[in-house]
Amino acid sequence: MTAIKQWQQRLSAAMTAKTAAGLLRQRRLANPRLDFSHNDYLGLARDADVAAALAEGALTFGHGSTASPLISGYTAAHQQLEQGLCRASGQEAALLFCSGFSANGSLFKTLFGSAEVILADKLMHASALDGIRDSGAKLVRFSHNDVASARAQLQRLAAADTPVSAIVTESVFSMDGDEAPLVALKQLALEFGCALIVDDAHGFGWRPLAVQPDLQLVTFGKALGGQGAAILASQLVIDYLVSHSRAYIYSTALSPASCVAVNVALDKAQQGATRAQLMDNIAYFREVAVALGIEIMPSHTPIQGVLTRDIERTLSIAYQLREQGIAVGAIRPPTVPQGLCRLRITLSVAHQPRDIQQLLTALAQALGC
Ligand SMILES: *Cc1c(COP(=O)(O)O)cnc(C)c1O
Repeated sequence: MTAIKQWQQRLSAAMTAKTAAGLLRQRRLANPRLDFSHNDYLGLARDADVAAALAEGALTFGHGSTASPLISGYTAAHQQLEQGLCRASGQEAALLFCSGFSANGSLFKTLFGSAEVILADKLMHASALDGIRDSGAKLVRFSHNDVASARAQLQRLAAADTPVSAIVTESVFSMDGDEAPLVALKQLALEFGCALIVDDAHGFGWRPLAVQPDLQLVTFGKALGGQGAAILASQLVIDYLVSHSRAYIYSTALSPASCVAVNVALDKAQQGATRAQLMDNIAYFREVAVALGIEIMPSHTPIQGVLTRDIERTLSIAYQLREQGIAVGAIRPPTVPQGLCRLRITLSVAHQPRDIQQLLTALAQALGC
């Protein structure tokens, strides 16, 4: 058999196995009547002011940046967004990337190496895990959101003379919507003399962090309704990244029109009334779900989970909702562990109470509550 045939056979055998396991991933043209699967928590993806800023940004700076940032792709639009992000977060300096996945990967693989030990929450996002693996640093995990487990690992590693350089967690976990004990983790970081790194993808925009981490990853594709990401840190770290991050140096800079739009989205996101409306929707969802007897996972964030456990049941319920024009996330392994499949329901200020009511009524019926 030729090499190309062998290769194609390997791919096709893997696809057959995925299909048999119910784990094949497929794209579907999205056009739900009610969408509870996106991450646009503040409804900014279709905001008219943000859209106008995008158009104006394109006319002023271009819809594309035309080059990598170190050639001529870095414009006043990029600089202004970086400044806006620093004001919003209290961090000293910022660096823009085209996606959170590349920013997170770059953060770890550029800043850390085989001399370092990184202690990360068990449920960290794939982008962080890939970055840490590529960095060559030693990765140690602590049990999810478990401060005692983190402390035990820090003590063990310090005693073994391999002290931890950084504790890594997420502010709001992408699949469960639960929140990291940031105040306690910051205290641990201070006590053990290591950095605290927080992936704030799902928190940034709709609520501030409880503590200031040493490094903060923010993305624009979630609460800000846009695209792109930034690493926020000290000037030293950002300057180091500018000179060393391959994903930054060898990639066309983020669209300047996008920068203008994200800056306007950031301003709008910081309005208290919008945030209050999101909290109201979260409270309403939980209240009605409990009243209908739907078992929801504990979460005070726009990410709400309903444990459906096995793959077939999860897919079947998501399908029944989809037939009614309602989109929810059907989350399966390897995104979550075996047996912990769930429906991931995300709430937005764009949802009306009657939308939430409709979702939950349909869901209760599909679940057989
Ligand atoms: C979405 C997400 C990312 C990646 O961000 P993108 O901009 O979508 O590439 C990184 N970390 C976490 C926790 C995320 O949820």
